[in-house]
Amino acid sequence: MAKKISFRSLLVLFAVGAVLLTGGVACYWQYIRHALEADVKTLIMANGTEAAADFDRAINADRHVLETIAITTQNDYPWKNSWELESFLLQQSQYNSFLALGLITMQGKVFLSQTQPLPEEFTQHILERTLQEGTYLSGQEPAPEGDEQIVIQAVTLHRANSTIGVLFAIMPDDRYEELLKLPVFGGEGFSFIIRRSDGAVMLEGRDISFANLYDVLHRSEFSSFKQARQLRQSIMDGAFAFAQYKFAKKRRFLYGLKLDVNDWYLLAELPTATVEMQARNFTSMSVGLFAFIFIIFSVFLAFILRLREYSNRQLFMTAFVDPLTGADNLNRMSQIFEEHLNALDRMASVVIFDITKFKVINDMYGYERGNQVLQRIAEILREEMLPNECFCRSAADNFVLLLSYQDRPQFHTRLNHLAAQIRRDCTAADACVMLDVAFGVYEVTEHIPFYIMMDRAYLALEKAKRSSRDKVQFYDEQDRRRILTERQVENSMEAALKNGEFCVYLQPKVDLKTGQMTEAEALVRWITPDKGIISPDAFIPVFEKNGFVLKLDMYILEQVVKLQDKWKKEGRTPVPVAVNFSRQHLNDSLYLTQMTRLVDRYQVPHELIEVELTESLILDNVELAQNAIRGLHQKGFSVVMDDFGSGYSSLNVLKGLQFDGIKLDKEFLNGFDDTKAAKQVIIGAVEMIKKLGVKVIAEGVETTAQVEFFRSIGCDLGQGYYFDKPLPVEEFEKRLLSLEK
Ligand code: C2E
Ligand code: MG
Ligand code: MG
Repeated sequence: MAKKISFRSLLVLFAVGAVLLTGGVACYWQYIRHALEADVKTLIMANGTEAAADFDRAINADRHVLETIAITTQNDYPWKNSWELESFLLQQSQYNSFLALGLITMQGKVFLSQTQPLPEEFTQHILERTLQEGTYLSGQEPAPEGDEQIVIQAVTLHRANSTIGVLFAIMPDDRYEELLKLPVFGGEGFSFIIRRSDGAVMLEGRDISFANLYDVLHRSEFSSFKQARQLRQSIMDGAFAFAQYKFAKKRRFLYGLKLDVNDWYLLAELPTATVEMQARNFTSMSVGLFAFIFIIFSVFLAFILRLREYSNRQLFMTAFVDPLTGADNLNRMSQIFEEHLNALDRMASVVIFDITKFKVINDMYGYERGNQVLQRIAEILREEMLPNECFCRSAADNFVLLLSYQDRPQFHTRLNHLAAQIRRDCTAADACVMLDVAFGVYEVTEHIPFYIMMDRAYLALEKAKRSSRDKVQFYDEQDRRRILTERQVENSMEAALKNGEFCVYLQPKVDLKTGQMTEAEALVRWITPDKGIISPDAFIPVFEKNGFVLKLDMYILEQVVKLQDKWKKEGRTPVPVAVNFSRQHLNDSLYLTQMTRLVDRYQVPHELIEVELTESLILDNVELAQNAIRGLHQKGFSVVMDDFGSGYSSLNVLKGLQFDGIKLDKEFLNGFDDTKAAKQVIIGAVEMIKKLGVKVIAEGVETTAQVEFFRSIGCDLGQGYYFDKPLPVEEFEKRLLSLEK
């Protein structure tokens, strides 16, 4: 049987699956994070570089504009017409989207695009710084009035190689802010500009909460001090830098590069959370997919397992369960027998029981009722089983039990109790049929296979069925000897037939009126070289079981017709001879043809052959017997019922069967000499048969008194030791001779 996957192993399988999945997801997440981080690094570098280039380009463009305006204005030096100059500045300022445009002379005089004057320190500072460096670009700073943030860019004005003043533009700080935003990271990334010399923040793409990067580096936001120092060094050297740092509890990537303007340095920044979030999104999507596949797979697996379990159970049911009662069948019992026997320490008995008259229940009340009885019995047995005991239904109304055993008296009581319960529960209330059971018991004493134990219990059961007193019978030594003999018989039967060891003995049947032998019965004898003559009772039952009786009966018939043929050829009048036919013939459709052919081969008239069928055989299947008798009659053979009285034939049964004669069983003569009643029974039986108008034969007649009695009550023929024992052929022939004289 296929091994069953238990619920526990399924759970373990699941747990392992889940751990593997979790581990797999963790590794996957790490992998994705690293891959994304590498991507982001490249991206931030590219974007940072691009932002720096854009910024440089924008600053240069503005300076170029200022320089162009400067060329126009320096031509009008020494700027007599201030109104004209200021309207030009206004026009240019508006045109270039400056907040203001101004010109400062070397003497500190200021012309502005706006009417509102600027504080002197403010313009003075611009003048000084621009003259110092040639051009000037401020960082982000508050406007002189209002709280706006501004950026200032300025160029010098020249006339004939001498500096004549400074042209400056005030711009809103957001003029460059856009360039410092890094749009690729969904608004999460940005950049800012610092001064390399002191780390002061000059411009920022978005509000950052510190004013000096170097101050921040001094604090503990960097994962390592060494990394912070390296970053500062790279910035000071104007080299590229890449770092990770933590600010306001957020880890960030940082990429920096030098700008062309002033000593400025651009730093692009991105919170790692962005990457982590992307990785998480990606992973959770993958995990979702994995989980979905895993669930589908699990459901599928569970379904397959259930299906397998179901088909295993179905297989088990068909192979090992009796469909009617739900009890184990014999296959199952043989499988578990040894295990249970050992669990009982071999202190056990194998019991087979059989319901007597079960056939009658089926016949009278139908199969439905019969089935109910069997189901109820199985239920009772189930309730009666002690630990480690077991039972099965082996065939129709046969149950095999393995029961614990102490001693015979105890066991006897237990089985009788069981029988009583079955009788009480299963006997139909309205039935006149009393249900009873017979038990055959084998007490386990030897290490022999189960089927041999069962054989032995069966033998005991046969005994129990035969016994009218005790329906519980134990297998014993005698049974064993009988089996041995049976086996010997079986082993030698074929050879014996071939060697002619089976001989016909003939016993005369005498006309009670005349005292003359008119017929005979052929009775087989097995004459062995070593054991001498064996009587048929010792081997016919064995042959009936194994079917050899079919061959033997035909052989005996052949011997008989051979004799009759011989007598005819010798000029004698052949007497009719009766042959005994076993029950097996009735099941064999060919026997009549075979028999006819055999008799015809020796050209013996059919009326010289009589067939004896025993009463029990007829009662087993009346219809079959009826057909057999009809067939034999059609062929001209006569038929006699043998051993009448051993069964329970009623007049009705006898009437339906067209016998030519009925032979009273010799058991009728038991008690003949002692009781009147015995005689009365015989008188009744003979009267009944006489009513049918067939001949009556008395068997087993041994005394003169018996002969006289049978004659007086109108019996036709007598057969028995009083006249003759079954005789060997030569002796019988002598009788024939004396008959002819
Ligand atoms: P059966 O057919 O009823 O045969 C009569 C039996 O009674 C014979 O036993 C016979 O010897 C015995 N007998 C005859 N007269 C007396 C008597 O006065 N007193 C006593 N006590 N017994 C008497 P046998 O020959 O041992 O045969 C036993 C049974 O074996 C037969 O019973 C018959 O049923 C069966 N049998 C014998 N030969 C054959 C055979 O060739 N084929 C078959 N199928 N069965 C046979
Ligand atoms: Mg007979
Ligand atoms: Mg008889």
